[in-house]
Amino acid sequence: MPFYKCIASADKFRGNMTGLRMSAMNVGPLSVDANLLVAFAPGHLEIPTTAALIVHPTYGVVLWDTGINGVVADPDRRDAYWGANVATAFGPHAFKREHAIDAQLEKLGIKPKDVRYVLYSHLHLDHAGGMSYFPDAIHVVQRDEIRYALWPDTWTSPVYCQNDFRDIRKLNILEIDGDFDLFEDGTLRLLKTSGHAPGHQVLIVNLPNRGRICMAADTGHQRSGFDNLVPMPWDWSTSAMSMTRMRMKQLERSGVPMFLCHDASDFAKLPQNGEFWD
Ligand SMILES: [Zn+2]
Repeated sequence: MPFYKCIASADKFRGNMTGLRMSAMNVGPLSVDANLLVAFAPGHLEIPTTAALIVHPTYGVVLWDTGINGVVADPDRRDAYWGANVATAFGPHAFKREHAIDAQLEKLGIKPKDVRYVLYSHLHLDHAGGMSYFPDAIHVVQRDEIRYALWPDTWTSPVYCQNDFRDIRKLNILEIDGDFDLFEDGTLRLLKTSGHAPGHQVLIVNLPNRGRICMAADTGHQRSGFDNLVPMPWDWSTSAMSMTRMRMKQLERSGVPMFLCHDASDFAKLPQNGEFWD
């Protein structure tokens, strides 16, 4: 559905939760060795990076993650922006300028200033790349994550791209610590799920017709790793990750379907290309 229709129906349902809807976008196709996603896994994988567009009937446009910065689509600027080693490891060759979140929103008729809130699962370079595209939004991030991202340990520093954070001190940041009901109406609940990163969080969207779903971000990088509790090499704490995964499994057992950011089969189930779930 074109965005103007979403807004029209959002207006119609203003103050009525039946207007909430969401769509997903692949904001960063990557080509990686499987062992980068699941320790010791063989082979090579083409994977998506999932972000979501949510239209709240009262509070407007909300983004879940921002994908990779558009500069990375330019082979001449990619290495300088991301670092040559990271660019080699993550293989963003299929990532084109039109994949960047600002370009995808534009196609749906959404301007950067229409975005009211940006929620971050965490601040790795495939999630926070679009931060500077939304200077007028409120950016919601766990306190542990924003502090760590700006001064990471040496071994995790390659995946926190400081170029993504160049405008961070000019932005309206809403720091949170722990689980958080964004509008105190049960529609968008953030659960702190440390492990992959110190302040990683997942989002539970309560859709009026479909019910609850969980955007599970990087609590697993492939279903196989998630199911077998195998970490990925850049998980900040494998111990915290185990606790998080047990919590996520209980969520699934409770009937809340979850969608991993980089699992192609999970992404394929989500509405995309202007389709919405409500
Ligand atoms: Zn990721």
